Amino acid sequence: MDFSLNDEQKMMIDTVRRFIAEELKPLENEVEDKGFLDNATALAIHAKGKALGLYGMNMPVELGGGGLSNMDRILCEEQFGHTTDILIRRAFGNVYEPLLHCKGGQVERWLKPAVEGTRTCAITITESGAGSDAAGIKTHAKKTETGWVLNGSKHFISDGEWSDFFLVSAKTGEKEISMFMVDKGLPGFTVGKDQKMMGLRGTPHLELFFDNVQLEPLALLGGEGQGFKLAMGALNVVRLAQVGARAVGKATHVCELMLNYAGDRKQFGQKIGDFQMVQQQLADSVIEINAARWMVYQAAWMLDQGLDAREQIAMVKVHAAETLGRVVDRAVQVFGGMGFCKELSIERYYRDARIYRIYDGTSEIHRGVIAKSALKKGAALFDVNR
Ligand SMILES: Cc1cc2nc3c(=O)[nH]c(=O)nc-3n(C[C@H](O)[C@H](O)[C@H](O)COP(=O)(O)OP(=O)(O)OC[C@H]3O[C@@H](n4cnc5c(N)ncnc54)[C@H](O)[C@@H]3O)c2cc1C
Repeated sequence: MDFSLNDEQKMMIDTVRRFIAEELKPLENEVEDKGFLDNATALAIHAKGKALGLYGMNMPVELGGGGLSNMDRILCEEQFGHTTDILIRRAFGNVYEPLLHCKGGQVERWLKPAVEGTRTCAITITESGAGSDAAGIKTHAKKTETGWVLNGSKHFISDGEWSDFFLVSAKTGEKEISMFMVDKGLPGFTVGKDQKMMGLRGTPHLELFFDNVQLEPLALLGGEGQGFKLAMGALNVVRLAQVGARAVGKATHVCELMLNYAGDRKQFGQKIGDFQMVQQQLADSVIEINAARWMVYQAAWMLDQGLDAREQIAMVKVHAAETLGRVVDRAVQVFGGMGFCKELSIERYYRDARIYRIYDGTSEIHRGVIAKSALKKGAALFDVNR
C-alpha cells in the first residue's frame, strides 16, 4: 500500500480547497443566519462548481461526470467537510451511485441529467415508522397494466425542495422491496413540511406523500425486488465519502481552529495551549483524526482494488463520526465562552457534527454489523496480516 499523494492529487486538493475558501466560505454566515441559500446564489455557485469540472465527480466520464477513483473522490470529500452541506450540494452536486443501474431510456431521462446537473435527485428510504429498519417501510407500489401505482410517505428527505426527482424505496411484495424513480410534479405526489433540524442550516429536509401516483414501467430501477439491494450496496460508498471523509475534513478544520486559538489566547499570563489539560485535548484530537483519516484511505483503496469494503466502511462510519463529535466538543471547551457564542463558527460545527452519528446508519447499527462480522470471521476482520 502506498498512500503518498501524486502531483495531480495534490493539485486537485489545492483547487478544491481554494474554491471552498474563495467561493463558499464567504457565504456560510449568510446561509446560517437566513436558514436558506437564495436561488440566484445557488445557481451561481452551481455554475462555478461545474466549470471546475468536479460536478458529479463520482460519475463516469462517458456520462459527463468527473470519473474520479474512490481514492480521489474521498480526497475531495475530505475538503468538502471544511464547509457546509448545502453549499457543497449546489457546487458539486450529489449524484447518487444507485442511478448507475439505469438502463435504456432511463439513462437519458434520469441518469445523464443528474450527472450534468440539469436535474437533481434525492434518495428517499426513511419513513416515520421505518428508519434504521429500512426494510420495515410501508410505502408500496402495486403493479398495474400500465405500470405501477405508488402509495405511502417518506420523511427527513435531504434537499427534497431543490430536487427534480426521487429514488423511492417501496414494497412490491410481502417482503420484496424495489426502487423507483419518481418525478416531482406527478399527480398525487405532494411535498410536505420542511422538518427543521438542529444543524445543517440551509438544507431542507422534507416529508413526501404519494397518493395513488401512477408510474410508468420505466420508473423501476433495477429488476423487481432488486433495486433496493442495488441501492443499499451502492450507498456504501456514499457513506464512506459523505460521512467518513467529510467527518475527517470537518474535524481537521475544527482542530486547526482549536490549535490556533490555543496558541493565541492567554490566561494567567500564558497561552492556554501551554496548560497540560488543554494540550491533552489537542493531542487526543490530532491522534483520533489521524487514525480516522487512514481508515478512510484504507477503505477507499480497498474499493479501488475491487475488494469488498463493507465492514471497513462500517468501522469508518462509526469512528470518523464519533471522532468528529469528540473534536467539536473539545473545541467548544477550548474556546470557552466563545465556543458557545454565535459570533464564532465553533457552535455551528458542534451542531452540524451531531448528525454524522445518526444518518446513513446510526453508530449502533454499524456497531451491530461489525460485531456480527467479527464473531463470524474472528481476527481476520481487523488483522490485515491474515
Ligand atoms: C438531517 C437528516 C437528513 C436525512 N436525510 C435522509 C435522506 O435524504 N433520505 C433518507 O431516506 N433518510 C434520511 N434521513 C434519515 C436517517 O437516515 C435516519 O434518521 C436514520 O437512519 C435513523 O433512523 P430513525 O431516525 O428512524 O431512528 P430509529 O431507527 O428509530 O433509531 C432510534 C434509536 O434506536 C437505535 N436502534 C434502532 N435499531 C437498533 C438496533 N437494531 N440495535 C441497536 N440500536 C438500534 C438507533 O441507533 C437510534 O439510537 C435523514 C435524517 C436526518 C436527521
